Amino acid sequence: MGEFMRYKNKVAVITGGNSGIGLETAKKLSTEGAKVAICGRDLKTLNQVADQYGFLAIKVDVSNLLDIDNFYREVASSLGKIDLLFANAGIYKSIPLLETTEALYDEIVDTNIKGLFFTVQKSIPHMNSDAAIVLTSSVLNHKAWAGNSIYSATKAAVRSLARSFAADLLDKKIRVNAVSPGPTFTPIFGRLGLPDDELKNVADHIMSGIPLKRFGTTEDIANAVLFLGCSDSAFMTGAEIVVDGGLGQI
Ligand code: NAD
Repeated sequence: MGEFMRYKNKVAVITGGNSGIGLETAKKLSTEGAKVAICGRDLKTLNQVADQYGFLAIKVDVSNLLDIDNFYREVASSLGKIDLLFANAGIYKSIPLLETTEALYDEIVDTNIKGLFFTVQKSIPHMNSDAAIVLTSSVLNHKAWAGNSIYSATKAAVRSLARSFAADLLDKKIRVNAVSPGPTFTPIFGRLGLPDDELKNVADHIMSGIPLKRFGTTEDIANAVLFLGCSDSAFMTGAEIVVDGGLGQI
């Protein structure tokens, strides 16, 4: 039983809910009473999470519109109308400007912008009124890191979409806000394919630049999502909460 039950009898949908920030958020939502549906790319972890926590878990590539349609059909038939959509699925690749190929460009943009755009658009017929949508942007929509141009541009687009979607959905009484994590310990860094010692050097270098001198935890980010996803944040729409240890601010 959660300390709070802000999500009792609510339906929460999380893209990228089988790993990292999405999984932590799914667990916290469930603890606060939500019925949870997640999607992601990896069938093995989806099945593990479904077995362990009882979530509805569907394999989806968010850049494939038919997959998104199928996901919402399954959510509607199993759980009903949606109260919170956390559009969180995303990929991170650090690529020097001169090494950015068209294929890498397409992969990052298709996942982080196109995937998120249609995840939100196609959710709308399935949303309750007074529902909330939270989008995962990044502190990199505020500042530049060399070798991150495309990723940062996609996350700036997500920040912008939070404003535009919020305007588009006012009449439906659906609020839309963004959460912008700073560096947060999740499997995303392991996916860069760097050897362990190099990864540690990168992590140490990143940490030295964070004013609060630590990485974020998935819990730090999930706490902000749960706030944005319920009536605690009833007077916020089109806004952003940056959870970054001060990285983008100081
Ligand atoms: P993660 O790799 O642990 O999780 C990413 C999730 O997105 C996984 O569940 C994966 O299956 C899903 N996903 C990726 N591509 C997908 C696709 N095409 N279709 C469906 N699902 C897909 O990483 P994370 O750190 O938890 O990242 C979650 C979000 O937070 C991402 O949008 C990421 O850009 C953002 N973010 C992370 C950090 C960080 O430091 N970890 C910082 C800022 C922003």
